[in-house]
Amino acid sequence: MTDPILIDSHEDLAWNMLTFGRNYTLAATETRRMEEGSNAQQVNGDTLLGWPDYQHGRVAVIFSTLFAAPVRRKLGDWDRQSYADLDEAHMHYSAQLDAYQHLVEQHPAMFRKIEKRSDLQAILEHWQRSDTEEHPVGLVVLMEGAEGVRQPAELEEWYRRGVRIIGPAWAGTRFCGGTGEPGGLTKDGYDLLEGMAEFSLALDLSHMDELAAIQALDTYPGPIIASHANALALLKNTGSHRHLPNQVIEGLLNRGGTIGIVLANNFLRPGWKEAGGRSGVTLDYVVAQIDYICQLAGNAFHVGIGSDFDGGFGLQSVPMEIDTIADVRKIIPILSQKGYTEADIAAILGGNWLTQLNKALPEVL
Ligand SMILES: [Zn+2]
Repeated sequence: MTDPILIDSHEDLAWNMLTFGRNYTLAATETRRMEEGSNAQQVNGDTLLGWPDYQHGRVAVIFSTLFAAPVRRKLGDWDRQSYADLDEAHMHYSAQLDAYQHLVEQHPAMFRKIEKRSDLQAILEHWQRSDTEEHPVGLVVLMEGAEGVRQPAELEEWYRRGVRIIGPAWAGTRFCGGTGEPGGLTKDGYDLLEGMAEFSLALDLSHMDELAAIQALDTYPGPIIASHANALALLKNTGSHRHLPNQVIEGLLNRGGTIGIVLANNFLRPGWKEAGGRSGVTLDYVVAQIDYICQLAGNAFHVGIGSDFDGGFGLQSVPMEIDTIADVRKIIPILSQKGYTEADIAAILGGNWLTQLNKALPEVL
């Protein structure tokens, strides 16, 4: 069997590009050298991402986000992309989408946008070729925190510009409760879901408050995922609403969804800094999260990797075996040792996300 491809269901690439000027055509080690002593390194850690690293790690597809924080949850004085109102949100999300457009136009051999099934197919076929070692990385655009959608009628424009996945919350939004700001779906939230369903957009439950997630699972007819979220059951005493309670996981499984496991140490072993630092967090914690979902599902077909790398943390805050995204593959022998078959492992690395993409992507535009 050939080495399976990896699909990472959550990377805030555009936010990093526009906030810190990060250039993801470069290797992570190169960017680290350039950023030594910089603000980027201070506030977001050493980068874990770059095109050469995607090649080494066989990262064929990335769900690449549009993300901005509301000013009340501004990430720091340096955060130039927070928004005070809907027009500002629209502006930042739009600029990030332009940044992806720019990236794929400037570097078509390195990055391509995936908007329909044949785009995905072309990327996958390229990664199967043995006559070259260089492959384009496919970007599927995911809007995280949907305040960039000023009214449901705008969904058509976002869809035309390539958005294929929407997560209504980050902090709470006018659509629903979110991380640190509880609450169910509002009238605006139900209207958003109704609009999304027309385009069969995938709904991302990550960051949605438990009540809102359960309401959405009951009503949204299209594909449902959690692009980057871990099981709360393994993270007791965190006091955080950010992780998935069993009821939401079971709802996702019933709806045929997929969950992307986050590779941030505080999402794997809360209190890790006090408990010995990085050396105390191994990839076994990642595999435990994967295995937990598989045990609940009774199979290996509903979980993947949603690293969230460069999303507010870097090299300093990931499991000890990881230097760049290329090292995520080191979970393969651990899964294998636990009894996962080659087919299971290929599904976990990429196959399960392909299932969701085939539901969310249109045949033609
Ligand atoms: Zn997030």
